[in-house]
Amino acid sequence: MATAATETPADPDFITYTVTDNVAWVMLNRPQYSNAQNYRLLAQLDAAFKRAVEDDEVKVIVLGGEGKHFSAGHDIGTPEKDSDLPRARTSLWWDHLGRGGAERQYVLEQDAYLGLCRRWQEIPKPKLAMVQGACIAGGLMLAWVCDLIIASEDAFFQDPTLRMAMPGVEYFAHAFELPPRVARELLLLGERMPAARAYQLGMVNRLFPRDILREEVTKIAAEIATRDRFALALTLQAVNLVEDLRGKRQAMDGVFHIHHLAHAQNQLMTGNLVGGLDAKAMARANKEQAGKG
Ligand code: ZN
Repeated sequence: MATAATETPADPDFITYTVTDNVAWVMLNRPQYSNAQNYRLLAQLDAAFKRAVEDDEVKVIVLGGEGKHFSAGHDIGTPEKDSDLPRARTSLWWDHLGRGGAERQYVLEQDAYLGLCRRWQEIPKPKLAMVQGACIAGGLMLAWVCDLIIASEDAFFQDPTLRMAMPGVEYFAHAFELPPRVARELLLLGERMPAARAYQLGMVNRLFPRDILREEVTKIAAEIATRDRFALALTLQAVNLVEDLRGKRQAMDGVFHIHHLAHAQNQLMTGNLVGGLDAKAMARANKEQAGKG
């Protein structure tokens, strides 16, 4: 089976991986960039998940982020942005490099965003997202593919992509994770949703003060790790099946194409994949909006 491992000795450790007491701790490790996700980070994350699945010692997987924030989303502006580098693929689509028009981004995101998120959603071991600070856009995708979301009281959730003339992130679970009215609000206003509200709405399972978050996640993981391995896998499959029967898979397939109509429109109108604000202006607008709230 193909894996997405593209690591070369020159790649930094964008992900750290440790196993303690039957729990694999998979940590995003770009704290200097608020754990923004470049394609090498995603490939290393995929490799870490594969390792956790294949290790019989591992019963539960925790996905967290080093530093102040869980993840600021996809890498749209750091010096380690790598959309022009070759990457191994999980699907049998061809490589995005050297392709023009709408094809390049479609091929890339089909595999790297929608494809990887689906692959991770279907991991047969329970995954706990441990979220502190910012969980923005592509950060939501990583939290949403996990089975439980455990957050610190200072965490917030946000999809501000409409400011970039995009109708939400590629893994369009918004209206499954939240009531549709709230999903609309999340997208239309692009505001930070505080962890307490996400908890009230059922998108977050547990809330803890920041200083005891890891300790509490450890306890929850330890409890789940006492259950039977295969029964855990079947339980996860059962809930995934129900969500798919409610239309999640088909909705996401449809919305993925809407998403790429927007990329194509932006390309035609502005010459860029995204319109509206660039990375710096986005960060500024976010800060201003947060200051008002
Ligand atoms: Zn996109």
